[in-house]
Amino acid sequence: MPTLQSDRASRAGREPLPVLDPATGEVFEEVPDQQPDELDAVVDRAHEAWRSWRTDPAARTSALLRAADAVETAGDGLASLLTREQGKPLSESYAEIARAAARLRYFAELDPGSQLITDGRPVHSEIRWRPIGPVAAIVPWNFPLQLASAKFAPALAAGNTMVLKPSPFTPLATRLLGSVISTALPKDVLTIVTGREPLGARLASHRRIRHVTFTGSAPTGRAVAEGAAASLARVTLELGGNDAAILLDDVDVERVADRLFWAAFRNCGQVCMAVKRVYAPARLHSQVVEALAHRAKTAVVGPGLAPDSELGPVNNAAQLARVERYTALALADGARPAAGGHRLDRPGYFFAPTILADVPPHSPVVTEEQFGPVLPVLPYTSLDEAVEAANGTGFGLGGSVWGTDLDHAAAVADRLECGTAWINHHAELSLAQPFAGTKESGLGIAGGPWGLYGNLRPFVVHRAEDA
Ligand code: NAD
Repeated sequence: MPTLQSDRASRAGREPLPVLDPATGEVFEEVPDQQPDELDAVVDRAHEAWRSWRTDPAARTSALLRAADAVETAGDGLASLLTREQGKPLSESYAEIARAAARLRYFAELDPGSQLITDGRPVHSEIRWRPIGPVAAIVPWNFPLQLASAKFAPALAAGNTMVLKPSPFTPLATRLLGSVISTALPKDVLTIVTGREPLGARLASHRRIRHVTFTGSAPTGRAVAEGAAASLARVTLELGGNDAAILLDDVDVERVADRLFWAAFRNCGQVCMAVKRVYAPARLHSQVVEALAHRAKTAVVGPGLAPDSELGPVNNAAQLARVERYTALALADGARPAAGGHRLDRPGYFFAPTILADVPPHSPVVTEEQFGPVLPVLPYTSLDEAVEAANGTGFGLGGSVWGTDLDHAAAVADRLECGTAWINHHAELSLAQPFAGTKESGLGIAGGPWGLYGNLRPFVVHRAEDA
């Protein structure tokens, strides 16, 4: 018989999970706090659904194309819910939804094909690609729908089924997306589970899961990889970044300032591959600081549902506290706020868009991932010094180089130690490209055919031709 205390604890554990509106800081909805012991049944059903889902590629293609149409039809409801729980301007929510639909279409029509291997021997050797089984996906709160689709589109197209866990901060739009997509798919091909930890940890280490695909911070990524080691499931990790933008001596500051600003501040700076540090030639430093500060001061900050808002709130209280802490440490170390530098005096989790000058290079706002609306601008005197600083953190997600001589900019970009280097823009990805951080920014490859193969296993048939 359970004790009174354990009974109370288990009842408390099943209280729904509240969802807050970051523009007000108030609860407006709730979702089930599913318990880890519910996962056995969920994963078993995903495994059962896999038995037929894996067999018919043509049926999968049409189901996923229908799912893409369904996502677009549900766009208005999805966008307003996403903005309400995440905080981003409505236009950015619509962009996430468009991307999710485009990704479904892209992967629905991608064929892994089969490949012949020839090595001179009289053997016919062919690689065929096979699905691997139920996949677990765990995603963060900054791009809930876009990142969910980056997981389920390639996994389902490959013939796997999926159990996906959104962040407890943003479960609502993902649940709705799951039910919209499920109207086009057989039962249990895609299941969304919601709840507090240790739900994600138990999902990542579940014995019937064959691939764990995770997006989030590096410390959680390590824990996920350790958990997945129990069943030797494949692991894909898309982790944090601290992307540097290097401005070259011939950069046209006024021409690039808008693009550079939004590469840092879109989604309130909560983008893994946002520009998180700017390195400017010493002679241009104050001009760059002023140009960016002007944009920071004039950007319209407000609730994502307000039509004129360009920048919403930070998503949650813990993240806001992190942004405040990093900014305070930089200011204590002598940094100068050319714009912002403080929380806004209004309800919700609003922080003024902040441009920091005179930041010591060892300050955490430079060396760590601040993941918020704060941008340090650092001067450099030699290009080698700038490249070394750009490469000088544990991260290796992206980076960019800005200048008018494109060949020179490309040569500098070639020296960046990261997965994607942009020239005169930043944080733009094609669905067809590989997306893979190096160092502590990730493991495995997402995007394009590589993302599809990441959800398949090679099955090789050798046939002796001389028998
Ligand atoms: P997080 O690591 O705290 O959480 C990510 C997800 O993991 C959430 O769903 C969370 O509930 C879950 N989780 C927490 N503990 C877990 C555990 N022990 N086992 C399994 N799951 C667990 O990250 P966050 O704060 O939600 O997101 C911000 C981070 O995500 C930033 O570092 C950002 O750079 C990164 N990110 C990376 C990419 C990329 O593609 N590289 C994209 C977006 C965000």
